[in-house]
Amino acid sequence: MKPSLLQAINDRLRAARHILVVTHVGPDGDAIGSLLGLGGLLWDQGKAATLACEDPVPESYRFLAGSELVVQQAGNRPDLLVSVDCSDRDRMGESFAALEGIPLINIDHHVTNTMFGDVNWVEPSCASTTQMLLELAEGLGWQLRPPVADCLLCGLVTDTRSFRTANVDGETIGAAQRLLAAGASLSRVARQALDLRSLGSVRLWGEAVNALQLRDGILWTRVTRAMRQRWSVEDRETSGLSNFLSGVREARIVAVFTEVDNGDVDVSLRAQPGVDVAQVALRLGGGGHALASGLTMKGDLDEVEQRVLAELHRSLAEQETRHG
Ligand code: 5GP
Ligand code: MN
Repeated sequence: MKPSLLQAINDRLRAARHILVVTHVGPDGDAIGSLLGLGGLLWDQGKAATLACEDPVPESYRFLAGSELVVQQAGNRPDLLVSVDCSDRDRMGESFAALEGIPLINIDHHVTNTMFGDVNWVEPSCASTTQMLLELAEGLGWQLRPPVADCLLCGLVTDTRSFRTANVDGETIGAAQRLLAAGASLSRVARQALDLRSLGSVRLWGEAVNALQLRDGILWTRVTRAMRQRWSVEDRETSGLSNFLSGVREARIVAVFTEVDNGDVDVSLRAQPGVDVAQVALRLGGGGHALASGLTMKGDLDEVEQRVLAELHRSLAEQETRHG
């Protein structure tokens, strides 16, 4: 991280009296790990910080310290906003994106980040946003307590699916090693955040797996609202399914279409190494990484499915012509 950027962030954090840290809607392990990790670090520095996410903290991350303190709406007007793991302003959710006239520090690791902050610290080479926050803490000489180290490790472990994704390098492992040295528990974090799930969600996966379709290297399925109701599965408990399906040999791209409660369709995309799904996601209003992206679209499931599949087929054909 550039020293000037570290300085700029430090100056703004120091000067602020009430900081609002916000993470993205439909939060994942890196979103919540970053929110609670940065929150814990700021609290340890004696800063007044409110931690917010428009959606509730998913069950998988409620073992992390501070998860019960996350609010879904802004209270008193803050004098500094910090977004973590958000690739664009709208990812903060409607009510937070609408907060105007408050300086914003944008801390994120997505290639598709739109640089929407007053200070933008974006590192696509980092495997997780929490890895960046570890760097921040170290750069500022902040002490890391074990519960905070668990939060930061949670982001690393979930975004790399336990250090198995293509972007894991020596830096990633080095960061994890320092978090373990600070008292984080890899086995606990991996089990809580990645492995544990309800029986209902596995049964729902069963239904979705039965409905899989494969055409020209694209493997896809859908999770309807009726399926989620049948197995009592919340909106966002399904991204594990696309991770699981990304191991299918015959698939170059995986797409899981989920009907969420507000009527939107959430699309989770995965690509085999060498293929890029981030560009299609970006073009359709979403974002993410080359190998794991997502987007949300209005419209009914059939419509969204056709539109996204058409784009994916076109993009895959283009990429295959380009790379031979
Ligand atoms: P997942 O498929 O696990 O939900 O998400 C994969 C990646 O895509 C994550 O990095 C996530 O932040 C990003 N992503 C998922 N959904 C959206 C979306 O609706 N908008 C944007 N900008 N990014 C998304
Ligand atoms: Mn995320």
